[in-house]
Amino acid sequence: MAKVEVKYTKLFINNEWVDAVSKKTFPTINPQDESVIVQVAEGDKADIDLAVAAAKKAFHRYSEWRVMDASQRGRLLLKLADLMERDAKYLGELETLDNGKPVKQAEGEVLWSAGIIRYYAGKADKILGNTIPADGEVLTFTMREPVGVCGQILPWNYPIPMFVWKIGPALAAGCTVVLKPAEQTPLTALAMAALLKEAGIPAGVVNVVPGYGPTAGAALTHHPDVDKVAFTGSTEVGRIIMQAASAVNLKRVTLELGGKSPLVVFNDADVEKAAQIAHNAAFANAGQCCVAGTRTYVQSGIYDKFIQKAAEIAKKRKVGNPYTDVEQGPQIDDEMFNKVMGYIDAGKKGGARCIAGGEREGKVGYFIQPTVFADVKDDMKIAREEIFGPVQSILKFETFEEVVDRANNSNYGLGAGVITNDINTALAFIKHVRAGSMWVNTYEHVAPQTPFGGFRDSGIGRELGEDGIQQYLETKTVSFSLPKKPLI
Ligand code: NAD
Repeated sequence: MAKVEVKYTKLFINNEWVDAVSKKTFPTINPQDESVIVQVAEGDKADIDLAVAAAKKAFHRYSEWRVMDASQRGRLLLKLADLMERDAKYLGELETLDNGKPVKQAEGEVLWSAGIIRYYAGKADKILGNTIPADGEVLTFTMREPVGVCGQILPWNYPIPMFVWKIGPALAAGCTVVLKPAEQTPLTALAMAALLKEAGIPAGVVNVVPGYGPTAGAALTHHPDVDKVAFTGSTEVGRIIMQAASAVNLKRVTLELGGKSPLVVFNDADVEKAAQIAHNAAFANAGQCCVAGTRTYVQSGIYDKFIQKAAEIAKKRKVGNPYTDVEQGPQIDDEMFNKVMGYIDAGKKGGARCIAGGEREGKVGYFIQPTVFADVKDDMKIAREEIFGPVQSILKFETFEEVVDRANNSNYGLGAGVITNDINTALAFIKHVRAGSMWVNTYEHVAPQTPFGGFRDSGIGRELGEDGIQQYLETKTVSFSLPKKPLI
């Protein structure tokens, strides 16, 4: 196993490393061998209060951050992107230690995330209002202003990408931030905080407070001086956050939540290519992906051939030590491991046919075999609920109308994919299926420029792209009285 130095374990408030007020710490666990990596300062309400006070001060009208040119905000973000690239190898190794994802993937995520920071760096001085031909003797225009102090709460599945999806648009817009990483993966968020400081982001603009959801997270979502909450995580916690965000003041809320995304393969598809796309859609990041294509609908004409190929690919998937050349590491923790194994059990007992995997991999660490179920029915638990693990459910269908109804028969609406060579089938599919991201003959293509988010219970608002920065801006409308005649 690689020896990775953990440099930061304290809270990052006002550009300083501090212990929690309570002096409490919590362990972060290596999912590969279940050992404690290190103890991390455990923030709770008292620390959130300090962090929010720092973020509020940094948002004061005469603060260094507020008087800074927008183009300079952009330059600081460009510097941050450079530092991320400089440290990509280290950040990737640290991520693998804390999260368990294969190190090559982790490093790739750092580089991809640097690109997102660059995209938003370019947006900083291109935030534009409108002039409006309003009725009456007035000159009317709009100004787009930062929302203010933002509370940002992250999940553990893509810690660095989620960090930049949150801070990138917030900083480009001129907001200040208190960010709580997931308790399972605090280490790279703290390493990113150090890079923010090195890049020259002024004190208090970004504060990072590791801790648990019901304590630190809840304090942030209830805080009267927080103007907006941005959250990525489960739909269940999303509901709690939305209520909390309206309890004391009316915070702006964006939510990126769960999914149970359909990927539909029609008879005219190339079976080998389709099975590979569907495999990647279901198993990327050990299935710990909100937009995972976990309901694979296959048309009856190619069904038998497809399931055979799907099982073959899954059985070949390399699972093991994430510091070696594998495709899949362990699940994040014992809780998720047990949850996923419970779903596999439910699949077997519920009558689905397990054609690959279905067991734990090894005896130590949270590894699970890539698992494929065929002959899954829509009402089975594994077809309805988000598993968040390496489990693919394959379902048979006959007609276009039938599969569109079945694809839409979910409370979620995050992603959907279609594999076909018929342009009319593809166009009809993207028109009638309700989801925030649609992919044709590919899956999970996400870039800095592409808005991402869900319909229905998959969330509110969008991240990335132009839409992403709009969620961090308020509109101020200004009307000047115009004199009818010149005054002199
Ligand atoms: P989670 O909802 O349990 O936790 C996410 C974050 O919320 C953590 O930081 C946690 O500490 C915090 N939290 C928990 N309770 C809280 C509370 N009461 N108040 C404030 N904060 C609280 O989710 P998870 O297990 O970390 O992640 C898995 C889930 O996230 C999956 O359901 C997945 O679909 C979803 N997800 C969605 C997206 C997306 O972009 N839509 C991306 C990644 C993950």
